[in-house]
Amino acid sequence: MTQDMDAGAKETLRLIGPAPGNWVPDRAGIDHNVVLVGGGQTGCAFAWALRRAGIGKVSVIDAAPDEAHAGVWLNAARMNLLRTPKALVGPEIGLPALSFQAWYEARHGREAYAAIDRILRVDWAAYLSWYKQFLGIEIRYGTTLNRIEPVGDHFRLHLSSGIETTRKIVLANGVGGNGGPYYPPALAGLPVSVRAHTADRIDFVALRGKTVAVVGGAASAFDVAGVALEAGAGEVHLYVRRASVASVPISRSRGFPGAYDNYRSLPDAIRWQQAVRFQRSGSTPTVDAIARAVAFPNFHLHLSSPWVSARMEGGQIVAQTGDRTVRCDFAIAGTGYFQDPNARVELAWFASEIMLWRDRYTPPDGEENEYLGTHPYLGEGHEYLEKTPGAAPFLRNIHVHNPAAFVSFGLPIGDVPSMKRDIPGVTARIGRDLFLADLDVHAVRMMGGVVSDFEPELYAAALDPVAPGRGIG
Ligand SMILES: Cc1cc2nc3c(=O)[nH]c(=O)nc-3n(C[C@H](O)[C@H](O)[C@H](O)COP(=O)(O)OP(=O)(O)OC[C@H]3O[C@@H](n4cnc5c(N)ncnc54)[C@H](O)[C@@H]3O)c2cc1C
Repeated sequence: MTQDMDAGAKETLRLIGPAPGNWVPDRAGIDHNVVLVGGGQTGCAFAWALRRAGIGKVSVIDAAPDEAHAGVWLNAARMNLLRTPKALVGPEIGLPALSFQAWYEARHGREAYAAIDRILRVDWAAYLSWYKQFLGIEIRYGTTLNRIEPVGDHFRLHLSSGIETTRKIVLANGVGGNGGPYYPPALAGLPVSVRAHTADRIDFVALRGKTVAVVGGAASAFDVAGVALEAGAGEVHLYVRRASVASVPISRSRGFPGAYDNYRSLPDAIRWQQAVRFQRSGSTPTVDAIARAVAFPNFHLHLSSPWVSARMEGGQIVAQTGDRTVRCDFAIAGTGYFQDPNARVELAWFASEIMLWRDRYTPPDGEENEYLGTHPYLGEGHEYLEKTPGAAPFLRNIHVHNPAAFVSFGLPIGDVPSMKRDIPGVTARIGRDLFLADLDVHAVRMMGGVVSDFEPELYAAALDPVAPGRGIG
């Protein structure tokens, strides 16, 4: 008899019982209560959490044509192993039978799970695919959000498929979801035929035998160098601004539950100080990402070597890094992402109304940081806040679940470590907002008639015949 690998997960669903019915009243002309923009792990986890909260009319859209092209795992992520530890709570949120561990053990056994140090990236992608299918989460692939148009108490969403209306929006749109891939100015001026960003699909076969420059010293830079070398690049040179590769995962100092759970309640000054501390310390590549590249004799690491300028000469890139001139055939920016809602077409119409950290907080001398200042200053439910009170009240109905929430919440939001705290937190906030927005309807419902569970005949036979109030009725 074949074993049902989903038996444990099915049993959990049986034990928790069916999800509550949709309690959010319909409104004329409103298609959705919540639209989740992005069908990656964040969009799927929210779809499940909202269903269990009894919030219906939730739609998940994704611009990617299909599952394989959605999210980062089978696309821009090039590491072999997830960077995050295997034991973190992910989209299962409170239901261990839906976790990666349970999924993996059901297929490979407990010993196999105990033996892995970190999760294979492709296994994580397979698990997320299972999660989506097992829970029946429907994603409308090939549906791009092009513009959010606020109209009174709701939004008109300009989608590639037409216009739809919604009361709430969750931006589950990934690492560049509040800005985009960042190119240092030196690279930005080069022809697109000789440069790429780690966020792009890169034709590594075309780089065979070529001299490739990678700019940046964090994990994605080492990952892309490793893939280029494995694909047969002639030489790969990796240029890092710092005098050494960042090796201190500084955020671990606040990984304990008190700080994790209550981060949003910290005063601005402390959250800012923490963000600055992280920026100064740098984002650390994993040991295996470095080892993968360093294993190749044709890999060369250049420290204290920011790209100052670059130009084309004889079909090659000629770049100035500090006091050296270097030549290469192709350059890849592993330089992360910028934050600027003006750069997102979806948000552009009201981006200037969004309150940023620089609007809200003036750092003391020595703690200035232009990049951190461009992050939105978010409310407790990850909602955008208005720069000018009263100017854009609709912003409170757009919940930001991407790394733009880093300064406000202390984590790269959307990454696995954020899921345990922030998916339930934002779900609760959405529920509260929707409930209070229809208070008149709910108040009537709560005052409504309720059928009695039983008739007095049930206890009539036991009534004391001489006691006051005896008798039936
Ligand atoms: C190279 C790399 C490695 C990473 N490694 C790790 C790791 O090891 N551990 C970890 O926890 N995190 C890691 N991360 C962070 C990672 O992005 C998140 O953990 C995870 O992908 C977040 O899932 P998500 O669903 O929020 O976003 P994504 O997986 O990025 O999905 C966002 C989706 O939104 C869609 N979308 C965007 N804009 C629109 C629009 N306008 N309309 C419709 N759809 C839209 C996109 O098509 C995409 O499918 C890594 C990120 C990168 C880039």
